[in-house]
Amino acid sequence: MNESSVIDKNGLDLLIKILAGKGYLVVGPTIRDEAIVYDTVSSIADLPMGWTDEQEGGIYRLKKRSDNALFGFTLGPHSWKQFLHPSEKRLWQANRNDSGFEIIPEKADEKKYAFLGARSCELHAVAIQDKVFIEGSHTDQHYQSLRQNALFIAVNCGQAGNTCFCVSMQTGPKVEAGHDLVLTEILQDGDHYFLIEAGSEAGKNILKELKIKPATNDETERAEAIVANTAKQMGRTMETKNIKQLLYDNLEHSSWDDIAGRCLSCANCTMVCPTCFCSTVEDVTDVTGDHAERWQKWDSCFTMDFSSIHGGAVRNTTKSRYRQWMTHKLASWQDQFDSSGCVGCGRCITWCPVGIDLTREVSVIRESNTRQKENPSGSEAQNEDS
Ligand code: SF4
Ligand code: SF4
Repeated sequence: MNESSVIDKNGLDLLIKILAGKGYLVVGPTIRDEAIVYDTVSSIADLPMGWTDEQEGGIYRLKKRSDNALFGFTLGPHSWKQFLHPSEKRLWQANRNDSGFEIIPEKADEKKYAFLGARSCELHAVAIQDKVFIEGSHTDQHYQSLRQNALFIAVNCGQAGNTCFCVSMQTGPKVEAGHDLVLTEILQDGDHYFLIEAGSEAGKNILKELKIKPATNDETERAEAIVANTAKQMGRTMETKNIKQLLYDNLEHSSWDDIAGRCLSCANCTMVCPTCFCSTVEDVTDVTGDHAERWQKWDSCFTMDFSSIHGGAVRNTTKSRYRQWMTHKLASWQDQFDSSGCVGCGRCITWCPVGIDLTREVSVIRESNTRQKENPSGSEAQNEDS
C-alpha cells in the first residue's frame, strides 16, 4: 500500500506554522555569511530558495540554481549538534553564603526543537551522539531533555556534494530511520511539490493537520528515482572493509608524517563533524569571588591541552593528534560504541582549510598496505619513529 502523500509549497509553509503553533522552535537551513547554516525559520521564505552549494576539499561556495528548489543543496558547516550539544553550556553556579557556598545546578533545557531539513547522514550522526550522551553509563541530562523533545522533519537528498560519501558509510542518501516526517522535493515540468511520509506517531499526527493528497504511483516513483540518482552522484567513496584492523596495523605508517606536514592542527574538522562530542570544563568567578560558574565547552583532540595530564600533553605532535582523530573516527570508535564514528557527511573535507581528505588518507594507507603484502621485501611505508 502506498502510504506517501503530497504537499505543495504552501503545505510546507503550513507545516512550519503548525509546528510553531505546537510550541516548537523550528530550525532549518538559512543563508548567512555566504553559507547555508541552521537557524530559526518562520516560513518557507527563510529557506535558501534557488540556491545550491559547490564543495571540494577546502572549498565552499554558494551558487544560484536555475530553479526555485528549497532544499537544492547538500550540507553547510552547521550540524544539529550545535542545538542538542551546544558549544557552550553552563553546568552549575555557586554563590557564597554564611556557611560556605550554595551550589545551584543548571536546569535541563526543555526547549522543543523541530529540525527541518535533516539529511539521512545527519540522523545517523544524531543516533551516534545518542549512544554517547544517553545510552552509555553516564547520561547527559541536558542532551537527553532536548533530544526527547526534538522533532525531525527530514529531507531526502536530491543531489550529492563533491565531498559526500554516505553510500560508503551506509548512512544515506535515503532517510530510513530517526525521522518523524520525511520530505522528497520534486521539481518537474513546472510542478514543485513534496512527497511526505511519516516515520513516527508524532509525524502521523502532524500529517493529519496538513492538507495532503495521497501520492500517485508516478509521484512515488519520481521521488524514488531522485534518491537513487543521488546515490550515484557521491563525490567520494571510502572502502570500509577491515578498516579498523587496517588503521590499528598502520599506526607508524609514513603517511601520518605526510599529513602532519599539511595539517594546521586548527580543529576545524572536529568542530564541523556532527559526531565529535569532546568537551572540556572551565570554572569562572566574578571579581568579588562570591559567585562562580562551571561551563562545559566543545574541545578538540587537535588542541594541545586536550591530552594534557600530569607532566604535559600526551599527544604533542600534529602527527599524533591527526592519527588519534582519524583512528578514533574509523577504528577505535567501533570498539567504544559499536559503530563507525563517521557518517560520510564530508564536512571535515570541505571545511579543512588545506583540504585534507580522510577518504584519500585511508586509501593511501590501504593501497600501500596491499602493495606491501604483495611485495613483503619492498621498503614500503612503515616509519621507525612514532
Ligand atoms: S569524520 Fe568528516 S565525513 Fe565523517 S562524519 Fe565527521 S565530518 Fe563527516
Ligand atoms: S585536518 Fe584540516 S581541519 Fe583538521 S586540524 Fe588539520 S588542518 Fe585543521
